[in-house]
Amino acid sequence: MRVGVPTEIKTHEYRVGLVPAAVRELVNHGHQVTVQSGAGLGIGCDDQSYRLAGAEIAADAAGVFATADMILKVKEPQPAEYGLLRPGQVLFTYLHLAPDPKQTQALLHSGCTAIAYETVTDAQGGLPLLAPMSEVAGRMAVQVGAHCLEKEQGGAGVLLGGVPGVMAGHVVVLGGGVVGANAARMALGLGARVTILDKSLSRLRHLDEIFGNRLMTAYATADAIEHLLPQADLLIGAVLIPGAAAPRLVSAAGVASMRPGSVIVDVAIDQGGCIATSRPTSHAQPTYVESGVVHYCVTNMPGAVARTSAFALGHATLPFVLALADKGWARALAEDPHLKAGLNIHSGNVTHEAVARALGLGY
Ligand code: NAD
Repeated sequence: MRVGVPTEIKTHEYRVGLVPAAVRELVNHGHQVTVQSGAGLGIGCDDQSYRLAGAEIAADAAGVFATADMILKVKEPQPAEYGLLRPGQVLFTYLHLAPDPKQTQALLHSGCTAIAYETVTDAQGGLPLLAPMSEVAGRMAVQVGAHCLEKEQGGAGVLLGGVPGVMAGHVVVLGGGVVGANAARMALGLGARVTILDKSLSRLRHLDEIFGNRLMTAYATADAIEHLLPQADLLIGAVLIPGAAAPRLVSAAGVASMRPGSVIVDVAIDQGGCIATSRPTSHAQPTYVESGVVHYCVTNMPGAVARTSAFALGHATLPFVLALADKGWARALAEDPHLKAGLNIHSGNVTHEAVARALGLGY
């Protein structure tokens, strides 16, 4: 199969659909890979590293799309790319079609077969191609939160790990899923005191088993949250109800009850945020202060660590990429219901029920 990797053109997107090691795996499986010149520069991989892995380099996006049977990307196609997609061509990338009727129409019109990373499932009911970005965002939440606690950033001047004779800071994490567990791991590693809240007892039991009594767990009632807010130096929002807006767990009054200079990192902001005072920010202007509390609410946190994120995403996508290339999309999907769950569009039809329903289209 001919596999094509164009340069990402969405604003501030530095990741790339295939890292050189993945190119080599595909080439070893007998496939031809064409990478657009400069596609990997944002993660520190130049054209030569792709050539050494066995790729051909194309001068522009048209040269990639024109010959490829399958296009691998990171972000959804941008308007400049719509016209480059061909009938029968496979597109494997993040799509997030539900809130995006314009892109949906473009993909329907193109006649391509579009498989979305974000709806591929696994045997445990998880979303294996979203999980790596949640791992990144969870770990980053503590890193950026610790930075925001510094005086220059408007923070209270608290070192999360403390020092001998001075208490460590207290990190409170709302939601103990992938983001929450990774945030807890980083915070404990720094020496902070960490409390994690979830409404799933089985999740809390699992976290208790992993982290032992270094981690405090609490069942996520309004009472428990209100009790912990005035004690938190860093509050991390990490809840998710799949397919729905994030539940509001902290009111404006709750934020006002926090200590001046404490910090909120609302990772769930991409689903609307779980804290009443959260509003989306960007890497260019990541924070603002409200009720004396520093808020960090960047919707695409992994973009800041594009290199780590691209490699993490690449490891998760590679088995699916190889299956699609080796077997062709039809057999690969027929043999794997979890990959089939990723099929969003085929031959001018929306083929994912939830996406079709969200867009008010037939299924
Ligand atoms: P997850 O499904 O692994 O975990 C979510 C957890 O929230 C679950 O354990 C669930 O039991 C818990 N939960 C749900 N409702 C709750 C409630 N009312 N009270 C307490 N706990 C509750 O999800 P995840 O992968 O950890 O993602 C968390 C959020 O982070 C999502 O909104 C995701 O989109 C977001 N995210 C944002 C970025 C970013 O750049 N900002 C990056 C990655 C993920």
